[in-house]
Order: sequence, then C-alpha cells, then structure tokens
Amino acid sequence: MSEDLNIVRRELDEIDQRLVEALAARQQMVREAAGCKATSGEPIRDYEREREMLKRLGEQARQSGLNDHFVGMLYREILDQSVRYQTNCLAERDAAAPEHLVVAYQGAAGAYSHLAAMRHFSAHGAEVICQGRETFEAAFEAVKEGSADYALLPIENTTAGSINEVYDLLARRNLPVVGEEVLRVEHCLLAPEDVPLQRIERVLSHPQAVAQCSRFLTSLPNGTAEVFTDTAMAARKVKQDGDPTQAALASEEAARRYGLHVVARSVADQKENYTRFVIVAAEPAPCEPRVPCKTSLIFATSHERGALMQCLKVLDAQRVNLTKLESRPRPRAPWEYLFFADIEGRASDARIARALDALAAQAGYLKVLGTYPAHAVWQPALTKPAPPEPALLASERDGQAGTEPPRLAVREPEPAQAPPQAPPQPDKPYRLAQRALRPEGSTVRVGEVVIGGAQRVITGGPCSVESREQIRACAEAVRAAGGHLLRGGCFKPRTSPYAFQGLGLEGLALMAEAGAAFGLPIVTEVLSPADLEAVAGVADMLQIGARNMKNYALLKEVGQVDRPVLLKRGMMASVDEWLAAAEYVLAHGNQQVVLCERGIRTFETATRNTLDLTVLPVVRERTHLPVIVDPSHACGKRDWVPPLAEAAFPAGADGVMVEMHPDPENALSDGPQSLTFDGFEALAARLL
Ligand code: PEP
Ligand code: MN
Repeated sequence: MSEDLNIVRRELDEIDQRLVEALAARQQMVREAAGCKATSGEPIRDYEREREMLKRLGEQARQSGLNDHFVGMLYREILDQSVRYQTNCLAERDAAAPEHLVVAYQGAAGAYSHLAAMRHFSAHGAEVICQGRETFEAAFEAVKEGSADYALLPIENTTAGSINEVYDLLARRNLPVVGEEVLRVEHCLLAPEDVPLQRIERVLSHPQAVAQCSRFLTSLPNGTAEVFTDTAMAARKVKQDGDPTQAALASEEAARRYGLHVVARSVADQKENYTRFVIVAAEPAPCEPRVPCKTSLIFATSHERGALMQCLKVLDAQRVNLTKLESRPRPRAPWEYLFFADIEGRASDARIARALDALAAQAGYLKVLGTYPAHAVWQPALTKPAPPEPALLASERDGQAGTEPPRLAVREPEPAQAPPQAPPQPDKPYRLAQRALRPEGSTVRVGEVVIGGAQRVITGGPCSVESREQIRACAEAVRAAGGHLLRGGCFKPRTSPYAFQGLGLEGLALMAEAGAAFGLPIVTEVLSPADLEAVAGVADMLQIGARNMKNYALLKEVGQVDRPVLLKRGMMASVDEWLAAAEYVLAHGNQQVVLCERGIRTFETATRNTLDLTVLPVVRERTHLPVIVDPSHACGKRDWVPPLAEAAFPAGADGVMVEMHPDPENALSDGPQSLTFDGFEALAARLL
C-alpha cells in the first residue's frame, strides 16, 4: 500500500472517530431533551421542528458539496433512533431497565427479522440477545414459555402484502402486541466469490424474496430460483457449498455475517420495499403518554349486509382514525371474516374506549391486541402534523374520563339514524349486557344454529363423552330427533377427585368427529385457561360451568376468544352476579354469550337443585342476552326433566339443554338424570 493512501486512511479514521464522538454527544443531548420533555409534558415528536431541521441540513449539505438526499436519509435514521431512545429514556424513568433481554425471531442470524430486532431494541440500555427460531409459532411459544422476553414477527410487506400466518397467530394466541418496527428491505445477490452474473445458475432464497425480485431473476441469463427456508439460511448454504454458480438473495448484513460477496445490490422489483414487524410480549407494556401510539384490534362481523360498514361507522362516530384494515377468513366459519385493524391512539383513552365498547357491541367479537408506540417509516414529505385533538366530549369535560373503567365505558348516543341508545346505568355492575343496549335482544350463532331467534334450540348429549361409540350414538339420536346442538363433557368438574374426570382432548376429538358426522355443532365445558386454546380450536361453543361462573380469570380469557360462550348460572349466584359474570366476557370483547339456568341451591332436598324459572322474565327484562334452561342438572331425575323442559319456553327460554345416554344405567356420570334415546325423541317432538 502506498504511503499516500496510508496517510489518507489515517485521516479518514480520525474523521470517523469524530463522527462517532459527535453521535455520542448528540445522544447525550437527546437524553437531556427527554428529561426536559418528561418535566414539561411536551410530546416526543415535533414534526414541524423535524421538517425545518431536514430542510436546513439539506441546504447545508448542498453548500458543502454533499448529496442532500444522502444527508436526508442519514438524518431520518438519526431522528428515528432519537425518538426510540427518548421513548426508552422516558419508560426507564418509571421502571428499572433489565440487564439483558431476549428477543425471539423466525430465521437464522442475518435474516431481515434479525435486523429488525436489532434495530428495534438498539436504543434499550440492556444487552439484547436475539435468538432465531425455526417457525413463527416457535418464536411465539418462546415468549409464552418464558424463554424469550419478546418475539418479533413480520406482518406485512409493501410489495408482497400480508404475512397471513402471523395474523392467524395473533388471533389464536393471547399475547399482546407491545411494539412495531419498520425495516427497509434491500435484497442483494450474494455469491461465494465475485463472479459475473452470467455464471450464476441457481439462486436460493425465501419465496417472498424470490417473488419480490422476479424481474431481476428473469434477467439472469443462466440462473433459476430455488426456494429456501429463509434468506439468511440460503446465504449460509451458499457459503457452505462454496459453489461459484450458486447465489443467494439476502441482506447485505447476511453477506457480512457469512463472508459472501455482494454481486448485485438492491435487486428487488420495487426499490421502496419495506416490511413491518410486530413485537409481542407476555404482558401488555405501559405506553408513555407523550409518545404517539397505535392500537391493534381484531373484530368479527355478523353475517349481515352492511355489518362491516356499521362497525366502521361506530369508530368514525368517535373520530377514530383507522390506519390499517385487513381481513382474514374466520376460522371454522366459511365465508366469514375476521378484520384486523390498526387505529391511532390508546385503548385506555376515554374516546377510544368508548369507540371500542361500541365496536364490541356491534361486532360480536372484539379483541384488543395492544397499544404501542407508533413507529411508521419517517417520510417528511408525506407526514402531516398530528391533527388537533377534537373538542372534549361532555363526559370528558365533566372529569369522568379518568375515572371510567376503560373497557366498560357505556357507548355514547350516536348521531342520526342509529337506534336509540340506552341511558347509562352506572349503578349496575353490567353495562354491555343490559337490555336497553339492544332492546330487540341479541342472537348468538353457533355454526348454523341461531340462539335467541324464533327457533327453539334443543341441545342434547351425554353428561360425559365416554367413547367413540357412545358419543356417535348420541349425535345420531339428537339429529334424528331434530335437535340442534350436541353437548358432552370432556373436562369434567367433579365434586369428588376420584370420580371420572372426563377424556379430555381425546374425548373432544371423538365429539368433534361425531358432531361433524351428523352435522351438529358441539358445546363442551372448558375448565381452565390452560386448556382454552385447545378446546376453542375444536369446540363450536364453550361452556362455562356453574362451578366456574365466578372464575374471573377464565371469564377474561374466554372474553378474548372468538367462540360463542354458554354461561351457566352458579348454583348460588344472584341474577346480578350472573349478569356481571357475563359482563366479564363481553367487556373483554366476546359478545357471543348465551346464559343457562341450571338450578340453584335452596332448602329443598327432594330435588338435586331447584330450577329457578322465576328468573327467566327477570333476565329477559335486564339483559338482551339469550337464555336457555338445563332441567337435567336442576332436578337430577330423568322423569322430571320433560315437564320442566316444556315449562321453560312459556317462561321465556330460547332453548333447552338436556342430558341423554344410550345406556343411562351404566353412564359414567349423571346417569339418573339422563334421558334414554326414546325419552329424548319424545321430548323433542313435544318441544318442536
Ligand atoms: C354440565 O353441564 O356438564 C355441568 C357440569 O353442569 P353444571 O356446571 O351446571 O353443574
Ligand atoms: Mn352432568
């Protein structure tokens, strides 16, 4: 190397050192700015100042003979990092920063998810350990089991669209979204050595990357694409094989990591190619009030014309700004959809909380995935200053905003043609369940069966699922008698620990098979939050048994699942306690609740319990939720079941649920109260 070049390089090294020192000094000032903002309450982002700053720096760049676009890009990165850093400074003021944190992502080191994870957590004071996992599900699982603090998953790409598997995981798994990250994706062609493009014969990469670079790939005279698990793994394989005719599409970082040459840079069809990632954690994260936030939601709509429009209207009525709306097929409900939406603001803001309550009431199912700092790509030309906050609503002016429990707020009257709204009943422990909210009554759909409509709904089946033959025979008998739903306990709440506890998931699979064979949706009890995901994945309706009516942890969990719920009345619960239990499910988003009266404990010992038909008109008056009656557990004796079932309808029931068994004498549970198939058929004939 010439002495001249040596001198120049030494000079360059010194300049770089000064640049890094300047960035460190800048970061120190940024920390001070965060401190000032924490005291004064000013927002973290001042778009006006950022715009002026970029303009000034652009001019300065031009005057100094630099490319202003290049300087602009650098500063957008610097400003992005500054916002991230300030957000963390403010969060750390409230909580001690952990020494290290583990972030799980899908793929190998150097994958885009890995780059996004490093970028997202770069401003954390802690040591960040990024761990690649084989699948998205495994990254989720790492957080669930506690081996990672966060999982970072790609959710959408500006060229290739949504990553459906991640949307489906968010819907299925109860892990809150606590952040988002946006990464500019720049695909490069990497080879073991600096070869001309004509020599490349095979290009390995993830199918998404292959799709995004299709024009470049077809322009290769001798090369064809081969799909690979992920971009970084493709790079690793190319390095391992060392074959100069083989290349990978991956990031420049992957080239550095695996020691490959960048043969061509920026080869995607669209140069502006971004991927948005979400970050999930075990617990929701508190959101700094000065940081602009987003909230992600999932909601379902009823199967009616204009249903989605009505949902969007209730958001608009509260001036909620929707930044994204995506639909995915609703699991096990063909041609129905779940909508994934991002809105601006926090779920706990009074206005957003009102909008979410109204949306829940409208939608039938709403799950709030989380509120987190908004972190869109920073593009000053496209960024408008934040709209001024709308004028305060009456309830906010009255100072109620801070005191209202966020997810239980009563929906405000809506303008124009909306149906008349209920006056708030703040003395009641239930608001979403109150009759006045839906004077016409609500209906709940279980598969094709509608509960709460004109049709009397008959549910039959054994107390416990005992065998394939038994549950199949029951399903056949229910179907033949004109019944609508198949019941059966798989997880049994037994008073004695020595009694038959049910076949668990194995029983559920048998029941699903029987239900499917005879076209009957199935309803089964879920006993614990730990079983919920598995049970909800198979059952059409989740039963909460009498003993669990006050299991609030369980009620909260079923409130987050998109599955109808059959809520039995506790044997010592008052109507208001029962409705408050229903409110738990509703307040957590799931509006598909059917009540079930199954007898209460009184001084009477001649019957197992006392069927309280007295409450039916009371329930009808107080709530819009449908209600059915279970005479079997109420009276405990086969012969008394039919007259009580018949009495339920004139008293106001929407349906009945009765136990039946092919061989009641030998049933493993509740044989004495189970009808024979003949008995069931005769009863159904009288009821229908
Ligand atoms: C049941 O229906 O299987 C049951 C256990 O009922 P309950 O919770 O009403 O006792
Ligand atoms: Mn039973």
